[in-house]
Amino acid sequence: MFQRVLVANRGEIAVRVIRALHELGIEAVAVYSTADEDALHVRLADRAVRIGPPPANESYLKIPTIVAAATTTGCDAVHPGYGFLSENDEFVRACEDNDLVFIGPPADVMAKMGDKAQAKAEMRAAGVPLVPGTEGTATLEQARAAAEQFGFPVLLKAAAGGGGRGMRLVTEASDLDDAYAQARNEALAAFADGTLYVEKAIKPARHVEIQVMCDSHGNVLTCGERECSIQRRHQKLIEESPSPALDAEQREAMEEAAERACRHIGYRNAGTFEFLVGPDGAFSFIEVNCRLQVEHPVTELCTSMDLVRTQIRVADGAALEHGGRASRHGHAIEIRINAEDPLHDFRPSPGRLARFRPPLGPGVRVDTFVEEGSTIPPYYDSLIAKLIVRDNNRHLAIERARRALSEFEIEGVPTTRDIAFEILGSEQFRSGDYSTSFLDEVELAALA
Ligand code: ADP
Ligand code: ADP
Ligand code: MG
Repeated sequence: MFQRVLVANRGEIAVRVIRALHELGIEAVAVYSTADEDALHVRLADRAVRIGPPPANESYLKIPTIVAAATTTGCDAVHPGYGFLSENDEFVRACEDNDLVFIGPPADVMAKMGDKAQAKAEMRAAGVPLVPGTEGTATLEQARAAAEQFGFPVLLKAAAGGGGRGMRLVTEASDLDDAYAQARNEALAAFADGTLYVEKAIKPARHVEIQVMCDSHGNVLTCGERECSIQRRHQKLIEESPSPALDAEQREAMEEAAERACRHIGYRNAGTFEFLVGPDGAFSFIEVNCRLQVEHPVTELCTSMDLVRTQIRVADGAALEHGGRASRHGHAIEIRINAEDPLHDFRPSPGRLARFRPPLGPGVRVDTFVEEGSTIPPYYDSLIAKLIVRDNNRHLAIERARRALSEFEIEGVPTTRDIAFEILGSEQFRSGDYSTSFLDEVELAALA
């Protein structure tokens, strides 16, 4: 087993990974920018290495600095968390070149799946149903032709995309040229790659994803789905499992497709296959996330698996107990508490947390890195805490989530807590019949 692992991240996910390492008897080495000197992940780690000034591209995104932090402290492996370098195949190669085990899939798999247009080509070859769209990337000319062929609305998407950036919905032909230029510029700024592709916009769509875990002994374990349709700006706000949109047959078809895809691409470690489910119940692939996901605790609460400990063991060569389907029980819901202002289009609202008292009690888990008095720096993601609840069925889980949210005291910055409370209490959410357009369609007092 590894003796010491570098955690190449910050925030709640760095804390989550350090906890798993300690439970396995492994030492954790943290990295931190000067904005995170007092952060919880630095205090919990056995050692911590300062890697640079606050901007991520001068600290958490600097490959040579992170690799040096791992080698000089005698680490055997690196856990990338999510975001930052977690899906960067160059980073995976740099780790391998320095005899550091990267806790995630191999570099070549990550490179292929990181280009979302190429990933779709691989999925086509594996027989996985795709959202209709261009085969590969599209010039402006090709985008016009594709929109004509599939019919509006279409989505322009960045091949290198992630985090909802570089994406534009186009509803009519006259908007296409401008939208193409905007999506291209946004993708260039965010990913240094302005390559786009086109997809038919599925409407209404539900985002349903399958969690997988693959070892190096041929076991492919699928761990059920997560419904992630409550979104703002194409980014998730509330996730739950099981999805109220699936029956047992559809669920098995999706898990079977994900399993087939894993075998086809030689997937390893934890990953997520994202699908859209259309109004007819048909599912189609949009992308693979080659990493641990923000919403992984939803699956942990339903399967009783510890996905992070499993990631570490599998990266060390251990075999899963079995492949196939992970067993699951009950219903879990995650609410992302972001320092964002719902009244101003969810814009990030960093600042000092004058009060922070997370809820306790049965069936409640809170993953966070902040405390009362913490200052949320403006440089990084706006996620400050995740509230995850589990209960025996969906109705009970919703009531438990609302109870926990009402106990959750947060003051000092605007957050998504109140809007989440209202969403969970709405008729439409309770009915289970909702789509990714929920926030555009439902009138909420928290948005008024
Ligand atoms: P999840 O499905 O796990 O929520 P997201 O796409 O929301 O995944 O991304 C999780 C985190 O990773 C967010 O902080 C997001 O901003 C960041 N992220 C996702 N993709 C990229 C990328 N290509 N480059 C940089 N950050 C990314
Ligand atoms: P990212 O890499 O930013 O996570 P995704 O391709 O996963 O991008 O898409 C993010 C979200 O955008 C989806 O969860 C969904 O809400 C919406 N979306 C993406 N593709 C489509 C599509 N073809 N039709 C309708 N909605 C889509
Ligand atoms: Mg996605």
